[in-house]
Formats: sequence, structure tokens, C-alpha cells
Amino acid sequence: MDATQAKERIEQLREQLNYYSARYYNDDNPEISDFEYDRLMRELEGLEDAYPQYIVADSPTRRVGGVADKLFSPVTHIVPMESLRDAFSFEELVDFDQKIRERIAQPVYSVEPKIDGLSVSLEYQNGVFVRGSTRGDGVTGEDVTANLNTIGSIPKVLTRSVAQLEVRGEVYMSHQSFSDLVTMQELNGEKLAKNPRNAAAGALRQKNSAVTASRKLDIFCFNVQRTEGLTFDSHIESLEALKELGLTTLPFYYRCNGIDEAIRAVEEIGNRRGELPFDIDGAVIKIDDLALREQFGSTAKFPRWAIAYKYPPEEKDTVLLDVEIQVGRTGVLTPTAVFEPVQLAGTTVSRAVLHNADFIQEKNICLGDTIRVRKAGDIIPEVVGVTAHARDAEPYQMPTVCPSCGQAVSHVEGEAALRCQNPECPAQLERNLIHFASRGAMDIEGLGPAVVLQLTALDLVKKPSDIYRLQAEQIAAIERMGEKSAANLIAAIERSKQNPLWRLLFGLGIRHIGEKAAKLLEGSFCDLDAIAAASVEEILAIEGFGQIMAESLVNFFAMDGTRELVEEFRTLGLNFVSEQKATDGVFVGKTFVLTGTLPTMKREEAAALIEQAGGKTASSVSKKTDYVVAGEAAGSKLTKAQSLGIPVLTEEQLLALLQ
Ligand code: NAD
Repeated sequence: MDATQAKERIEQLREQLNYYSARYYNDDNPEISDFEYDRLMRELEGLEDAYPQYIVADSPTRRVGGVADKLFSPVTHIVPMESLRDAFSFEELVDFDQKIRERIAQPVYSVEPKIDGLSVSLEYQNGVFVRGSTRGDGVTGEDVTANLNTIGSIPKVLTRSVAQLEVRGEVYMSHQSFSDLVTMQELNGEKLAKNPRNAAAGALRQKNSAVTASRKLDIFCFNVQRTEGLTFDSHIESLEALKELGLTTLPFYYRCNGIDEAIRAVEEIGNRRGELPFDIDGAVIKIDDLALREQFGSTAKFPRWAIAYKYPPEEKDTVLLDVEIQVGRTGVLTPTAVFEPVQLAGTTVSRAVLHNADFIQEKNICLGDTIRVRKAGDIIPEVVGVTAHARDAEPYQMPTVCPSCGQAVSHVEGEAALRCQNPECPAQLERNLIHFASRGAMDIEGLGPAVVLQLTALDLVKKPSDIYRLQAEQIAAIERMGEKSAANLIAAIERSKQNPLWRLLFGLGIRHIGEKAAKLLEGSFCDLDAIAAASVEEILAIEGFGQIMAESLVNFFAMDGTRELVEEFRTLGLNFVSEQKATDGVFVGKTFVLTGTLPTMKREEAAALIEQAGGKTASSVSKKTDYVVAGEAAGSKLTKAQSLGIPVLTEEQLLALLQ
């Protein structure tokens, strides 16, 4: 490679690394594995060493990745939150030690697991937790105090008062919490979190602390950044002091005399890796003596007194037994490899996603093949490729019909995925119902995936509106449900009728309309009827909406099935009105019951007018009813209203009030 080629490659690598780094740190959504990222970084380091004339100050090799998001208040780190120099072989650890021994004859090292989470700083004043922040670019981080406050293992008050203490720790998600999260996401047909690190980062770097709390994060503290009121000579002493103060420190670490002992400890941590209930991506070797650390100081990116050894991803060979096909909420067919169980990174795995038909074809995967699987820091195993084809192997072919409903499946233009387009497909209906009731959508407590599946199996629920027709006795009769749980569930279903409009919109599972889009729609239109009637152009006028989203929404509301569903929801009394509308219409806070045949309008039309004016409609008369609108042949509801002394309006009077 000559200098011109080197320059070109350097620029290309920088561009790639900046791109992947932004996906990883800013979006918490990596596109390549850490292993591949580290390889690109290594190549860039090598080229910059060989061609120092092309080094620039903001090269990814010279700065801490990530930027603070404007969503959060910025926090300036008084002591910079540095990164760590990487090593991928024991020789590199020996080289590191050699440099250290140029200045110190007999270094003592601490060797620790390198927790794979995200770095945070915790600040305590007089023993009280006052602020917590992310690393950001190492100098400016994000204030995430409210979210950190939800983590049980972060004490709000230390066991004794210390004037000033800033501690660095790694927030992580345990394997158990991660697997709970993925199970939920799978059942809800949501995008799956890639690995515990990204799930932890996503849970911590977001605005809703309740979501952070639900993700069950944890922390291990591993460094004192600065303090007034505590003194210690060594790093290990400082960790012990933190523990006494009630902080959760690293679960284990080794004190080693010299590099040989340190390398043995690195191996030992590697051997323990599989048994740990959380991810580690390496081991960190640090000079233990704090005064000596000072002498070594830091580069712009990392301390010279520490190095991180990164373990290679564990890979195993196994036999592919079967390919199972799951049908998601939107009808996408997802193939899953089922193989002979193997031990990988501490857990037994027997399944891995195969993504789509293109992936299977590219890897030339056949049933019975010996395949290589790995967990590259990611807890979801992946198929690396085929190591040996089975005898007479035929490449696996995706099914041509939906395994749930038997209808032909097809490719949607521009997508690799195969899709079942049958709106009545039972698998899709089930996923839709699970999504509808889920925490992120209608948030119906007690109506989790297991209960939904039982209700659909008994044919009690076929579409979301059926949920609102369930009777306590029907629920009480299903497995593991007593009368009390049934009553609680009925109450939760009833409560969900008053949910903000965006929850209902999101719960409908309209393609390309996620939670954020649903909130934007609620903010831009006054009620569900206005949203349903909106044109593509009107929707495109909302910032953040593109053609695909707008068309998807319009097409959804144009379907007969959707119109029917909306009318059923209206009759059942679900909230259709935006929050803003609910605070400025003439009927805000008023509940109406409609009965009998009105002279000019259908009852649904009258209900829509009431809702547009901020009012609500209910199906039965109670003390909470403000008005009953009665038409011809009104029966028991009218009598009840009269006995309770509730004002009864004619259609004409209702229209007059609306004027
Ligand atoms: P790093 O993650 O390799 O090491 C530094 C971090 O280790 C610190 O921020 C610290 O919080 C953490 N840490 C955990 N346990 C520790 C302990 N006991 N002592 C000290 N520190 C400990 O470096 P980085 O700069 O944060 O990130 C770079 C790495 O991130 C890359 O090597 C790569 O693996 C990954 N990355 C991946 C992608 C991708 O697209 N997959 C993109 C960017 C970065």
C-alpha cells in the first residue's frame, strides 16, 4: 500500500467508524458486532502509526465515542470519563507491562471483569445522591439522575456522610432481565433488543423513568473519580471503601504481583465468564497504587496505567435440526434455527434467528448441516455459517404458505421478508391482541401474553373490541385465574377506556405508526375521527411523518374492518379525544348516555359530536352520568335517568348546547 492508498483507506475507515459509533452510542442500536468494530479500529490505528502525517485530532482513535443527546441537560465531567486501551492478545499485555516496568520495578496490578454496560458517574454530597450522568464524549455527559434513581442498587444515601464523592460505575442489564425483556418484545411482535448492553443504554437514555424502572437495571461501581473526605492509597482499598459506604462494587477482582499473575487472573475471569449472570466483554488490568497512576497520567482518550483485554467471541459447532417459522404481528415470517443444544457464554442455547430467506440463501443453510453459532457479546445467538453440509443436503426453502392460516405468502416490494397478507390470520390476530393490551399500548394490567393466548384459544376474544365485552365469569374460568384476578382484570380493562388517545392509536398496530407517531397524531388532530378522516397531505404536514407512514395510516382507516372496529370502540366507550381537546371543549368532564332512536342522527354520529366537544359517552346510566340524550322508544335507561334526576336532552337540545 502506498501513501495515497493509505490516506484513502484511513479516510474510509474513519467514516465507517464514525458511522458505526453513532449507531452504537447515540442510537443504542449497533449495526455491526463489537468484534468487527474493534477490527476496523485496529486497522485504522495500524495505518495511523505507519502514516502519522495523516493523523487528525478528531480521529476515532483519539477521542471517546458518543455525544451527549440534547434530550438531557448537559453535565460537565470535572474528572474526564476516559475510555480504555484495548488488547486482543497476551503479548500486548506483556508489552503494556514492559512500558510500566520502565518506570516501576515491581508493579502490583488489580485485575477486574470488564462489565459490558454503559458508563455513568454518580455524585454524592454529604452522603446524599445528588446527580448522575452518562459518559457522553468523556467531557460532557447527559444528566440522567431521575432514571438512575430508579435503580435499586444505587443508594440514595450512603451509610455515612462524606463531604464529596464522585464514583464511576457501569450500568448493566442482567441476563435474566434481558431475557424477560426479549420474551415480552417477541410476544408483542416488537423489534428485539440486540444485547443487554444496548438494552441497558436504551433504558437509561430515555425520558420516561417508569420505563427505566421496568427494565430492572443494575450497577457495579469500579472507580472513585474524586472525593473530599476519603483517603486511600490503592485502588483496591478505594473499592473496599465504596462497599462500606453501601455502593455495589465489582463482584470480584484480583490483586496480582506482576504481569504473569495478572494474565492468570485474566484467564481465570475468562473461565468464569460463562457462569456470570451478566455480560462481560473483557478484563481490565490496572496499576493498583494511586500515586503511581498519577505519574503515568492519560492520553486524550485513555489512561496509560490500565489496559482492557477483550475476549474473543465464543463459537461452537452444532447440528441444525429444524427451521421453525414464526408469524409476527404484521404477518412477517421469521425463520428460527433449532439446533442441538450447546453451551455458549454460560447458557445453553438451542435456537437462533435466521432473519429471512436471503440470509438462509447467502449462507447456503440446509437441514442437517453442521452450523457454527456464536454469541458475540450479544446474548441472542447468531448463525455464523455452515461448517459442513449434511449428506444430500438441499438448501432450506422458506414455506410458500403461512404456517398459521395456510394462505399463500408473498414478498412485499423492496423487503427481504416474506409476509402473510391475510388480515384474518390467527397468528397475526394473536400478536395484535398481545400488542394492543401491552404496557406500551393500552397497558391493561393482567392481560399479558399468556392470558391473551388462553382467551383466543377459547374463542372469547377475536379482535381488540372483544376485550371490552369480556365478563368476569369467563375470565375466572380460565387457567390460573381466580375470581379476584378476574375482577382485577375487568377493572383494568375498564380503566383502559380512559387512556390517552395515542395509546389506542398505537395499540391498533398500524404499520409504520409507532408510539412516537401516535403521540404526534394525537397532538395534531383533535380526535380519532379527525385522524381517521385525514388525507395523506394533511398527515404529511406533521413534522416527522413521511409518505410511507401517511399512506399506511390512510389505508388502515379506509379498511371496512377498521371502520367497524372504531364504531365498536365508540359504542363501548373508549376515549377518542386528544388530551388538549379534552381540556378545552364545551363538554369537557361531562359523561353522556345515548338511548333510543334519534330523529336525524345515528347514535354514533351524536357520540362523535359529543366527543369532539371533549365529552365522553358511556353505555349505562349511573350517578356519574351528566346527561342522557333520549330518542324514540328509549327504554330502561331513560327511566333510570329520571329516577336519578339526571337531565334528559332531546337531539335538538344537544345540538343547541353544542352551538
Ligand atoms: P470500552 O468499552 O472498550 O472500555 C471502556 C469502558 O469500559 C469504560 O467506559 C467503562 O465504563 C467500562 N468498564 C467496565 N468495567 C470496567 C472496569 N472494571 N474498569 C474500568 N472500566 C470498566 O471502550 P469504549 O470507548 O467505551 O467503547 C469502545 C468499544 O465499544 C469498542 O471496543 C467496541 O467494542 C464497542 N463499540 C461497538 C460499536 C459497534 O458498532 N458494535 C461501535 C462503537 C463502539
